[in-house]
Amino acid sequence: MYKYLFGPVPSRRLGRSLGVDLVPLKVCSFNCVFCQAGVTTDQTLERKEYVPVADVMSELNNWLQAGGSADIITFSGSGEPTLHSGIGDVISLIRKLTDTSIALLTNSSLLHLPEVRAAIIGVDIIKASLSAWDNASLEKVNRVDGAVGIVQIIDGIKNLRQEFTKTLWLEIFLLAGINDDDESIKRIAGIVESIGPDRVHLNTVVRPPAEKGAMPVSPVRLREIAQIFDPTADVIPSVDAVLGEDEVGKRPVLGNDDC
Ligand code: SF4
Repeated sequence: MYKYLFGPVPSRRLGRSLGVDLVPLKVCSFNCVFCQAGVTTDQTLERKEYVPVADVMSELNNWLQAGGSADIITFSGSGEPTLHSGIGDVISLIRKLTDTSIALLTNSSLLHLPEVRAAIIGVDIIKASLSAWDNASLEKVNRVDGAVGIVQIIDGIKNLRQEFTKTLWLEIFLLAGINDDDESIKRIAGIVESIGPDRVHLNTVVRPPAEKGAMPVSPVRLREIAQIFDPTADVIPSVDAVLGEDEVGKRPVLGNDDC
């Protein structure tokens, strides 16, 4: 059994993804109402070595030695990976061990920090989240508790776009009655245009959320919303369409690819 690795799990966007979890369960800068990993128990912006880099690398080395293979190695899991102060070292060490591509799923809360952008520059794909357009909507969706503001988040993603030449996806997590009306979408789409990501992904609730009031947007509405973006956004398919029938219901608790 591994402590810091999980999977490979069938990711809706990345294929067979080996997850690397760099922070303990629900250590996160956000407390999103839709989080499939539950309510955040340690909401923080403090960057530190939450788990030993040497132990993570030892597990990865053992997994590779045992013949482990995956389409991609993904930093994700039960909290915000960029909170780990050694993420840059882990990325460099993975590069020395394997040619497998590396992805990072981030909630974008620390991208305004130059040292964070420098640490993650070595991955192949970054999926950054942006589901709000002002501080009020940020609070409603991500419950940041005033720790970080929308201007910092947008500036961070814009700077990342300038510095990171590989694949940048933006994910917008949509919630019925909160950020799925035309006016909200147009405001988000305007910000997205100013960033210029490679693709925009629309996501909604498909697994039990942290708060019962976090309701999914219908597939029909998601397709309408996709058309408001230029170029048209991608609607992330339901995980059930990706998993085999016998795998549905056995979804990993970890592997939070929604943040
Ligand atoms: S969805 Fe991601 S960013 Fe939001 S609370 Fe959960 S782990 Fe944190």
